[in-house]
Amino acid sequence: QRTEFMAFFNKIIDRFDMAKKQNIHLVRKLPDARVYVYIDRDKLTQVIDNIISNALKYSPEGGSLTFQVIKQKGFLRISISDQGVGIPKENLGKIFMRFYRVDRARSRKLGGTGLGLAIAKEMIEAQGGQIWAESEWNKGTTIIFTLPLTRGGREL
Ligand code: ATP
Ligand code: MG
Repeated sequence: QRTEFMAFFNKIIDRFDMAKKQNIHLVRKLPDARVYVYIDRDKLTQVIDNIISNALKYSPEGGSLTFQVIKQKGFLRISISDQGVGIPKENLGKIFMRFYRVDRARSRKLGGTGLGLAIAKEMIEAQGGQIWAESEWNKGTTIIFTLPLTRGGREL
């Protein structure tokens, strides 16, 4: 479905902003422009929900989540950063694998199956994008993904 991404993304962030129980500030650094992407809205909603849920799950009280969207040549770069526990460098590549969870004891306590990011990777790649993570232990994590701004060689 051809979708205006900023309205779509803002709606998801709004939903979390209303529902969140923790004292976490949601910061939006979004372009003041319309950008069109071709996506499966239900699937992408599921992907973004998981990324935000993870970020909240691993964040301390009083922290902030930053949402940033940058328009680059041919694609959109979307990032979601938290100030949580972070992920050790050596584990960064593995979090997109099925059932992988960094700290089994901690993860068990927080719940989940370890499938969220594996599904996210599959879905983003199916929509022509890429997804990766940057993180510093004890400082926070950023999940970044891209979405193409063209389809069949044409601008959307
Ligand atoms: P599920 O999403 O299936 O409920 P999950 O959240 O454990 O379970 P993923 O979303 O795939 O699974 O994440 C995999 C693992 O990556 C998590 O268990 C956690 O160890 C780590 N992780 C993901 N996001 C973050 C984050 N923002 N900060 C710290 N660790 C993270
Ligand atoms: Mg998850």
